[in-house]
Amino acid sequence: MLSVGTHMKHVQEITFKDLSVDKDILDALNEKGIVHPTEIQAGSIPPAIKGKDVIGRAVTGSGKTLAFSIPIVQELKKHTGRGIKAIILAPTRELAKQVEEEFMLAGKNTAIKTAVIYGGVDYEPQFKALEVADVVVGTPGRIIDHLQRGSLQLDAIEFFVLDEADRMLDMGFIDDIKRIIDKTPPHKQNFFFSATMPYEARVLAESFMQDPEVVKTEHVYVDNTKLEEFYVDCGSLYKTDMLTHLIKEENPELAIVFVNSRLFTDKIAEHLDRAGFKVKPLHGGHAQNKRENIVDQFDTGDIRILVATDVAARGLDIDGVTHVFNYDVPRDVQTYTHRVGRTARAGRSGKAFTLLDQEEHRLFSRIEGDSLRDIHKHHVDYSPKKIYLLPKREDRGPKRGGHKKGPRRGPRRHKK
Ligand code: ADP
Ligand code: MG
Repeated sequence: MLSVGTHMKHVQEITFKDLSVDKDILDALNEKGIVHPTEIQAGSIPPAIKGKDVIGRAVTGSGKTLAFSIPIVQELKKHTGRGIKAIILAPTRELAKQVEEEFMLAGKNTAIKTAVIYGGVDYEPQFKALEVADVVVGTPGRIIDHLQRGSLQLDAIEFFVLDEADRMLDMGFIDDIKRIIDKTPPHKQNFFFSATMPYEARVLAESFMQDPEVVKTEHVYVDNTKLEEFYVDCGSLYKTDMLTHLIKEENPELAIVFVNSRLFTDKIAEHLDRAGFKVKPLHGGHAQNKRENIVDQFDTGDIRILVATDVAARGLDIDGVTHVFNYDVPRDVQTYTHRVGRTARAGRSGKAFTLLDQEEHRLFSRIEGDSLRDIHKHHVDYSPKKIYLLPKREDRGPKRGGHKKGPRRGPRRHKK
């Protein structure tokens, strides 16, 4: 069994008893000194007992296995010995064995029988185990083997579980998983547990789950308890004015405006400067001492707004940042999380706004999905004006030679 990880965070005030867990199970848990549920367990067990599909996201070592094992044991102990009623897919043999151990722990005082199924070993003992099992835990390849041989049927299952779903997808099990889901009945309860929720995982979950309860805990990058996230719809030419408006409205103590290109850090900083804000651009092209000087002024509040690229903001650790504005949508969830994580630090609250033109909407919904956080639409009662940060196309002169003034779209190389 795994040792209790550093991420084991209990919800001390409550016990498993408070989650309406049966006495049989409580006794078995208590015997092992397991009394208080972890955060993911406290969040997942009640909806699971009520019959809901659950997506549970929590870091490794947070007790995800019992989060789905307990509700399954609690239901299946009522009618054991009637064939396979639950299947749990795990990515590796080791993890399948660990899941089975947790099942046996929760089901110790019940008649529930488990079979653990993985490749690289004889079929014979697995056939025998499957004949009497209520619950099967296995890796996808060997499960499919058994389905093809007829030694396993899933048409009467009541529970389908994908455990460590992100790792399963990393290992290329997507098609196997879908094939197995196809063999299950439409009406069943589904659990989806994962440490991270990449886009593929979300798409997969949506493809078979019914109105799942999403339980999120322990954000790895951001302690987002005091972070509020918003997006604002806004055409690209209106963004500069909208940004100016938002900054006036929000009146941040310290803010970072993120843009995707270095050229725009200068242009937007110039614009905000003209609008009366204490603002400086910060980008990777600045000499180290100049960069440090700017960051110092920001830290002391002499500059209230930094307009920065991701590269420039890397490692920027200033506690008092109250606002982050994404002028451009970041390219992926890691970048987004890094950006918004510049605020709401050290227990303070913070707000993050992302300005989205139509094209950026699609990319952003992906980011929002991956982040599994609630990002609210911010309604603005203001009609922004068009502002051209760059000369309008017709004012830029002939293409040849004139391209230097235009926006550079490609990656820029520059010396450190
Ligand atoms: P995860 O799947 O989230 O990585 P596991 O389900 O493997 O984590 O649990 C890690 C270890 O923590 C296991 O040994 C398990 O028995 C133990 N554990 C689970 N829940 C609790 C709890 N509420 N209190 C104490 N130990 C627990
Ligand atoms: Mg696990």
